[in-house]
Amino acid sequence: MSDVLRVQWTITPATAPQPWLNCNRCRGTTRFRTSGKIRVNANGKRLDAWLIYRCTSCDNTWNRPILERRHVSTIDPHLLASLQANDPELARQLAFEKFRRNLKMEHFGDATVRKEVVSETARPACRLDIVCIVRETTGLRVDRLLSTELRMSRSSIQSMQDAGHLEASPQGLHRPPRNGLHVRIDLRGVHDGDKIALAAMGGEACR
Ligand SMILES: [Zn+2]
Repeated sequence: MSDVLRVQWTITPATAPQPWLNCNRCRGTTRFRTSGKIRVNANGKRLDAWLIYRCTSCDNTWNRPILERRHVSTIDPHLLASLQANDPELARQLAFEKFRRNLKMEHFGDATVRKEVVSETARPACRLDIVCIVRETTGLRVDRLLSTELRMSRSSIQSMQDAGHLEASPQGLHRPPRNGLHVRIDLRGVHDGDKIALAAMGGEACR
């Protein structure tokens, strides 16, 4: 049995990014949140689809274009059915997709983390390997994620990195986690290594 504890964290952001847009009712720039609703308009064989956003101050709507004047025959039948059914899964997926227009965006750090043990080890583990699955964009930072999920202060996480006991690749501690983020922690050199290992394997934690 290897002395490496391997875990996988699946990170699901809770709040989709919100664009800053001019609201004609508020007469200024405000944040718009997704309503989770899709609107479809068919004109003969051509179809338009939008994801509906609402102003966070006054509830005014803004339609985010998803399909514009697309011929029905060129739309994937599964996508077409989901659009027409106002499928909440699709609406969520669209809300996390990058905007075609270059807009100022607000990102949020709230997320759910599901933890799974990939390979157990004879305790105590000497090294902890965390691989993160992140399918949607998040405003969460790697150091905040580790701090919450490993129940440690951000300063101790930073000190562990400085001392060479922790490595987060490829993006480091101060940026949002991306899919495939790999965190390696040398548990032998750190205080409370067994507690860190236990927290890394733990159940679901919500923020
Ligand atoms: Zn408004």
